[in-house]
Amino acid sequence: MSMPEAPEQAWKAEVVRRLEQGDGLEFTLAQFAQTVGTTVEDQALRIFLGQAVASGAAKKIEAYRCPISSCKRVLSSAGAPYTICPHCSTDYLKEGVEPLVELFYRLVGENSRDIRWMIIVHGMNSRAKWQEEFSWQIANRLRYSAPVLIYKYGWATIDVLVRWLHRRLAKRLGERMRIAITQALASQRPSKPDIIAHSFGTYLLSLVLDDPNFEDLNFGRVITAGSIIPPDFDWDRLIASGRVEAVLNHVGAKDTAVPAAQFAIPGTGPGGRIGYLAKNAVNVCEPTFRHSDFFEPENLCAQIADGGLWHNFLTHPLEHFAPQRGFAPSRWKRAPLAVRAATRILGYALFALAAPFSWLRRQVDP
Ligand SMILES: [Zn+2]
Repeated sequence: MSMPEAPEQAWKAEVVRRLEQGDGLEFTLAQFAQTVGTTVEDQALRIFLGQAVASGAAKKIEAYRCPISSCKRVLSSAGAPYTICPHCSTDYLKEGVEPLVELFYRLVGENSRDIRWMIIVHGMNSRAKWQEEFSWQIANRLRYSAPVLIYKYGWATIDVLVRWLHRRLAKRLGERMRIAITQALASQRPSKPDIIAHSFGTYLLSLVLDDPNFEDLNFGRVITAGSIIPPDFDWDRLIASGRVEAVLNHVGAKDTAVPAAQFAIPGTGPGGRIGYLAKNAVNVCEPTFRHSDFFEPENLCAQIADGGLWHNFLTHPLEHFAPQRGFAPSRWKRAPLAVRAATRILGYALFALAAPFSWLRRQVDP
């Protein structure tokens, strides 16, 4: 850099970076000074941090440090006063020493979170290729292991045209989720899985969330891609009641399947094009993506990599989560009932005609 900007700009950027990543929220003056390339003598830095405290963006915490050179551990202020080091067991009175007082700053923000475990609900007739790729990427990209359950509901074909079959599929999904959550608890994992759902899988997920029989199932962060959930689905209520921690709606601007869904599949809507109207939903538009591009190996890889949209959404504090290409739709109206009814009657007729073939196909190609 030739002409450095005012140091305060760089310090501010460092604070924002820490808040966004939920990492390094607690630090001493010396630690922060070192990160931003200055020293504790820098008066401007002291003033800068002082202003952060005055504005409520940071808190000053006094902590203690063991004075014994082989220990030097931080002793939390909650346990003060200390007469014995809880780490090295040095008796300070006997040794004639006292704990060192040290000043910490704590940025007011949430810590980053780990991806705990995950359930993937794919679209119709997804072949195994991207699922294998996904498991592989997750296992390789993450610094820790997060089990992934890829839920399969078999071949859906003409069946998607009728509602009672949706309920049956959703019931099966809810029951499978409940088993997975029970197993997670038994192996000391958190009870709320993160979810990635695609296409018809997003609709099944919304049915599970709306079904009073599954009210005991709570979820972490939910990603919908190529969503056919109606834009007016009440995510705000689910978030407020703790059923869902947050939702990211990943929209493909070139998705042509999503706008067509409401005319063929009763109960669905173009959430994956219009976006979700819910105040607390995060909508992000990918200008070049078509319906299944989210799961092309290179795209999938980019989403899950450090700094990728999905990875950031799953791990960063959401208070400061403002992805590029985020948008908030203002309104949406369902297509006129007459149009939907007409296309659906056509759908039912197709179902009646083709169901036997659909059955036959499943016997042949399970
Ligand atoms: Zn000690």
